[in-house]
Amino acid sequence: MESIKGKVIAITGASSGIGEAIARHLSAEGAKVVLGARRIDNLKTIVESIVSDGGEAIYKKLDVTDTDDVIAFVNYAVEQYGTLDVLVNNAGLMPLSMINSYKIEEWHRMIDVNIKGVLHGIAAALPIFEGKDSGQFVNITSVGDRWVGPTSTVYSATKFAVRAISDGLRQEVSANIRVTLVAPGATESELAESISDPDLKKLAVEKFRKDLLPAAAIARAVAFAVSQPSDVDVNEIVVRPTAQKAL
Ligand code: NDP
Repeated sequence: MESIKGKVIAITGASSGIGEAIARHLSAEGAKVVLGARRIDNLKTIVESIVSDGGEAIYKKLDVTDTDDVIAFVNYAVEQYGTLDVLVNNAGLMPLSMINSYKIEEWHRMIDVNIKGVLHGIAAALPIFEGKDSGQFVNITSVGDRWVGPTSTVYSATKFAVRAISDGLRQEVSANIRVTLVAPGATESELAESISDPDLKKLAVEKFRKDLLPAAAIARAVAFAVSQPSDVDVNEIVVRPTAQKAL
């Protein structure tokens, strides 16, 4: 396996959960990591901790729903570290609900963050990757990119969309640009906090989120894909807790 050492890796949604774990793990493997999210206090604390462990990390406030913000985030990585090698499109939210609850504002937010946020990341990083004819997108979807059930209709729709976008992108880009999709099962993070219905949140936590992967397990999957030789594109990785059988 080629080393991750020295690669410049920007991660959206790095202020908690899976994004934070990816930043910590890839930095421990020698990458220069650029963390983006809206909660800059969290980003500052995580970056300070990475740097005190001997890693190289910087952060920038980022709202992935804003195209210009995403372009500025990616450009910041290039300004500070001279290039960009990998963009991890990780930011996402999962306010589950039944369709007939008509939580239309939550549908819009999921579409804006989970789908448009990824497209903004692609629009921001692809010109850089095309300019040097190399680079890698790692898009974090979910097992919900291939599974749908009651309350996950819109969330799964956003993740199905990112799976389609990832595979289309993979075919359109040059032979030297890689596109990887990592689909986690239930993983420790703050994700369930975005469920606004208290009964549904309780049900989701008790029924679907009792066997959880540590976020580091997803970070290791990302590291596996990033560390392959440049002529190897790991297209998809699905990682579930061993005990997660139903979805
Ligand atoms: P968390 O809630 O812990 O993390 C979500 C991250 O997304 C936070 O850093 C948050 O940062 C960021 N985010 C949300 N909205 C925006 C925005 N508008 N702009 C920038 N960043 C934003 O959950 P996870 O770590 O679990 O989620 C990460 C990804 O993993 C998501 O795409 C999720 O769908 C996916 N996933 C998670 C699973 C799980 O069980 N945990 C299972 C399957 C997939 P901030 O609020 O500071 O902006």
